[in-house]
Amino acid sequence: MGKATGFLEYERRHEAYELPLERVKHWKEFTHALTDEDAKIQGARCMDCGIPFCNNGCPVNNIIPDFNDLVFRQDWKQAIEVLHSTNNFPELTGRICPAPCEAACTLNINSDAVGIKSIERAIIDKAWSEGWVAPQVPKLKTGKKIAVVGSGPAGLAAAQQLARAGHEVTVFEKNDRIGGLLRYGIPDFKLEKWQIDRRMRQMEAEGVTFRTGVFIGKEPLPPSINNAAKDTLSPDELREQFDAIVMAGGAETPRDLPVPGRELAGIHFAMEFLPQQNRVNAGDKLADQLLAKGKHVVVIGGGDTGSDCVGTSNRHGAKSVTQFELLAQPPQEENKPLVWPYWPIKLRTSSSHEEGCERDWSVATKRFEGRRGKVEKLIAARVEWRDGKMQEVPGSEFEMKADLVLLAMGFTQPAAAMLNAFAVDKDQRGNVRAGTDGERAYHTSVDNVFAAGDVRRGQSLVVWAIREGRQCARAVDAFLMGASELPC
Ligand SMILES: Cc1cc2nc3c(=O)[nH]c(=O)nc-3n(C[C@H](O)[C@H](O)[C@H](O)COP(=O)(O)OP(=O)(O)OC[C@H]3O[C@@H](n4cnc5c(N)ncnc54)[C@H](O)[C@@H]3O)c2cc1C
Ligand code: SF4
Repeated sequence: MGKATGFLEYERRHEAYELPLERVKHWKEFTHALTDEDAKIQGARCMDCGIPFCNNGCPVNNIIPDFNDLVFRQDWKQAIEVLHSTNNFPELTGRICPAPCEAACTLNINSDAVGIKSIERAIIDKAWSEGWVAPQVPKLKTGKKIAVVGSGPAGLAAAQQLARAGHEVTVFEKNDRIGGLLRYGIPDFKLEKWQIDRRMRQMEAEGVTFRTGVFIGKEPLPPSINNAAKDTLSPDELREQFDAIVMAGGAETPRDLPVPGRELAGIHFAMEFLPQQNRVNAGDKLADQLLAKGKHVVVIGGGDTGSDCVGTSNRHGAKSVTQFELLAQPPQEENKPLVWPYWPIKLRTSSSHEEGCERDWSVATKRFEGRRGKVEKLIAARVEWRDGKMQEVPGSEFEMKADLVLLAMGFTQPAAAMLNAFAVDKDQRGNVRAGTDGERAYHTSVDNVFAAGDVRRGQSLVVWAIREGRQCARAVDAFLMGASELPC
């Protein structure tokens, strides 16, 4: 522990950021890593409290007190060793993780938590800029071949771990670029995409082969799921060529809103809207991009995806942006003694909300109306929640002008076509059935076929996908070799 009295002496330091009026003019990231001095002070605030709840709150179990101390001592090289020992891609989590570790920080009981996420980002950004992140090429090859289906954070983490264990790994991706939702979904202003390309180059040097534009399945996917594949391989063909397969295809089926008027033009899933802007930012030319410019935009769904639609609509130059949420407005502050060290339900205002947006809660959309086949307004009503049941408040119906409606109500399950093609068992929610413990950890009902990330656990977070990819890699390695030295 660097400084015994640091938590008493120093306030939490925040990353510098561009003001909303400036940042909405561009698509670049707008927060900047802590300076060395600020990171040192942030690290000094860690109490090394004996039982590091933060380490448990972090899904990849980052060894947080150790790297806090190393940053306080400005031993950045050792800090990245510690950070990389549990997390393949801290440049992702240091930017877009909601930081459940900070909710679990002991200092958070009666003060501001240590800014763990900002320290994580400072460590990895320095490591890349100093040239300390080098490929880890295995000394021995096992001769085993593994296919990873899907190139989101779960597939990438699994592929990197398996390649480092000496296996020959090929990642198949149906879209034209690697990254899953990191690439097509999460806006560039939250995560610039060269971060993915840089890791890809490291992984290629470690022996991973990437094959984009290849769909693994049999039946076509529904139009609500992005698919730019030119080639198709069946799971049977994959099984003939590889010793093991990791399914890491995400949970891509969007939740729909089947109310009258849903068929009108101008009503789209968030994932029809967001990836288009990712593509344009990458230099692609789109014939008919969905744009919010000059429109009254209504985003339905109050989560992360909805917030990303708000930020993107404001950058397009929307006339107004409104976000509706079906659930009641959560409290401004959590009752810390009651909920600590768990992730609290409280009002969260994202950087996109700060850029301009009306938010409203307890609102149910009843129907859409329009003219000449185009949406013009939505009719909604207020709802009350009693004993977990939703009831419409009588006489509360109202209408709202809407030229563009974005449905961001989450994802229900993986593409059924993919799961059917592999003939794996599903759980009650339609995800791939596979446990995380014991001899058959991450193993599906089909021999040699494993599953990790959203395809197994349902819609979740990048950090959980990395955890599952790492643990699944260990399970595959042990299955093929009889034992594994990969970390769990
Ligand atoms: C708009 C949006 C914003 C988000 N923001 C955040 C955030 O800020 N922080 C956070 O932690 N999480 C966020 N999430 C959630 C996070 O992105 C996901 O939990 C995470 O990406 C899941 O990783 P994954 O590897 O399991 O799947 P995915 O990232 O979904 O990747 C799956 C990949 O598999 C490919 N694939 C699927 N089927 C096949 C097939 N049959 N053949 C070939 N390829 C296939 C898909 O094309 C896709 O590229 C966000 C999600 C969305 C939609
Ligand atoms: S990965 Fe997320 S939970 Fe873990 S230390 Fe980083 S910010 Fe915290």
